[in-house]
Amino acid sequence: MFKGRVALVTGGGSGIGAAACQRLAIEGAKVAVVDLKGDTAAHTVELIEKAGGSAIAVAADISSPEDNVRMFDEAEAAFGQVDVAFLNAGILQPYIPLEQVTVELFDKVLAVNLRGAFLGIQQCLQRLKPGGACVATASAAAYLGFAEAAAYATSKHGLIGLVRSSAAAFAARDLRINAVCPGMVMTPMNSFAAIDTIEPPESLANAPYRGGLTPQQIAEVALFLLSQGASGVNGLAQLVDSAALATFAPLPQ
Ligand code: NAD
Repeated sequence: MFKGRVALVTGGGSGIGAAACQRLAIEGAKVAVVDLKGDTAAHTVELIEKAGGSAIAVAADISSPEDNVRMFDEAEAAFGQVDVAFLNAGILQPYIPLEQVTVELFDKVLAVNLRGAFLGIQQCLQRLKPGGACVATASAAAYLGFAEAAAYATSKHGLIGLVRSSAAAFAARDLRINAVCPGMVMTPMNSFAAIDTIEPPESLANAPYRGGLTPQQIAEVALFLLSQGASGVNGLAQLVDSAALATFAPLPQ
């Protein structure tokens, strides 16, 4: 799907981003693996290289304008250009009632999840080669409020507004931008152990109805939206939640 193309993935050191980096490399992309934690980005690069792929690790903080410029600079220096970007890095907040959310916590979550995506999207507009695409990771919490994680849900609601608002500017440059909105994914963010292994997509089992998803199940949808198979899709927010939001939840007892 990505032979001869260059991909940049943020949050590539863990969870959904790590799975996406490995799958992009298997599909032929050269990958810039970006993460706040350089050692985890380097680990993903190792996995890609062991499987015969090509990747570089970039330690960068997506909430920093300078780091957003540098991560694209480093990807271009290594591989000549960037064609597709998966702006996936994000943070969760502690589950606490709204009255306990401090201004500092609110600002921190918004700085990474929303401002970080905004900065990445602006770089994508300037840097992606025509015919390229960007996918941002939002959440099912972009559709429903989250009483115990108000800052997080607010950041992801905002991210959908940003993606939709960016579609025209992307189209004007022969680019596309979409969002994936995962349900509950079994990653370190949710205290699940990291998974290093990747399965051939054709042998993935279906996620249980309203159950937890694997990081690769989210990565596969992101890859499709980044690929030319999705050439008609721009400005979309795609749930990947195994029907968690498809029906009313049972009322609490
Ligand atoms: P994860 O914690 O396993 O991975 C996130 C990665 O992002 C980590 O490697 C972390 O170091 C990196 N990161 C955090 N802050 C960063 C920053 N400022 N700059 C650069 N990198 C940074 O989590 P995950 O579950 O793979 O989450 C990936 C994305 O999916 C996030 O945006 C998250 O909000 C979203 N999401 C996750 C779930 C879930 O259930 N896990 C559900 C919906 C949405």
